[in-house]
Amino acid sequence: MTDPRRARVSAVRDVLAAQDLDALLVSHLANVRWLTGFSGSSALLVVTALEVVLLTDFRYATQVESEVSSGVRIVVVAESLWTELWEVLGAMPSVQRVGFDSTHLVHRDFQRLLEQGRWQWRPTADLIETLRESKDETEVAAIRRAIAMAESALAVTLGQLRPGLTETGVAGILEKALRDAGSEDYPFASIVASGPNSALPHARAGSRELAPGDFVLLDFGAVADGYCSDITRTVVLGTASAEQLDVYEVVREANARASAAVRPGMKGMDADAVAREYIHARGFGEAFGHSLGHGIGLEVHEAPRLAKTAEAVLPLGAVVTIEPGIYRAGWGGIRIEDNVLLTEQGAVVLTGFHRNLLEIA
Ligand code: ZN
Ligand code: ZN
Repeated sequence: MTDPRRARVSAVRDVLAAQDLDALLVSHLANVRWLTGFSGSSALLVVTALEVVLLTDFRYATQVESEVSSGVRIVVVAESLWTELWEVLGAMPSVQRVGFDSTHLVHRDFQRLLEQGRWQWRPTADLIETLRESKDETEVAAIRRAIAMAESALAVTLGQLRPGLTETGVAGILEKALRDAGSEDYPFASIVASGPNSALPHARAGSRELAPGDFVLLDFGAVADGYCSDITRTVVLGTASAEQLDVYEVVREANARASAAVRPGMKGMDADAVAREYIHARGFGEAFGHSLGHGIGLEVHEAPRLAKTAEAVLPLGAVVTIEPGIYRAGWGGIRIEDNVLLTEQGAVVLTGFHRNLLEIA
């Protein structure tokens, strides 16, 4: 099997040639990982037409050798990554115009670049992020594993939900189950929001105790080989009221319509509109206050965006979330979030956990 990272480096080189750049300085760690496999927390990467050079520090000397594929020159620095970077670039006489990750470089590091008058620094916003949108087979396989972990943790957690547990207590059950399922990490702090808290789209988990009749919204994910899943299910503790069932059904239908309609070649804003217009037509227009979805991969929120203002086209091979919701202050909220892969045949829904309103006895 060919190493997918070689194809990624070659895609970056095509963009460098098209933009008349001699080199790209990569500082964002997710981008470094995507190009080389290195998962450490200290790295700078230089890509030229001929070379890929990874700089890291002493702590990662062993790890970097085992993670990084052949074809990448590894430099383990004793002092500063930046001081060593000038040495590495200085030994590349043909390199003059150097692109950098302008979306991620902090101001202090940008000043370091400006102090090096020898090179012409060119901002490249989201150059690698755009390439990362389309997933290859190995990436889709990792996301599928992360989804399976999340779904197994969800089943364990729902089996233990009961009145009197606090939201943080439920998050503890969920996060233990994620670890038991093999998740390497948590892509974000798990959201467990009950009763009126479920009306806050970005609630975390707090001290509130679950009570009969509550909506309980769980939004969380797992990480497998660095790749994230991101799933939301909303259940009712006890028996759902007719109103809960009615509003839930609107969200479920909005999710189903968006999953069925989304496809590569569509603008992110048009995918968003499918769910938004349905929710609006059902009389809950203002209650869906966030975007329909986002890409997932090495980061849990990455390109492309499915939002009212997202004019960019969704590419073939992207894995995105479909997460419509309805939130009513004081009453509660519902979100159903799935992960879908955009194929030539349309969207393949990767999340299998069912979407009917679960009443937890
Ligand atoms: Zn989520
Ligand atoms: Zn999400």
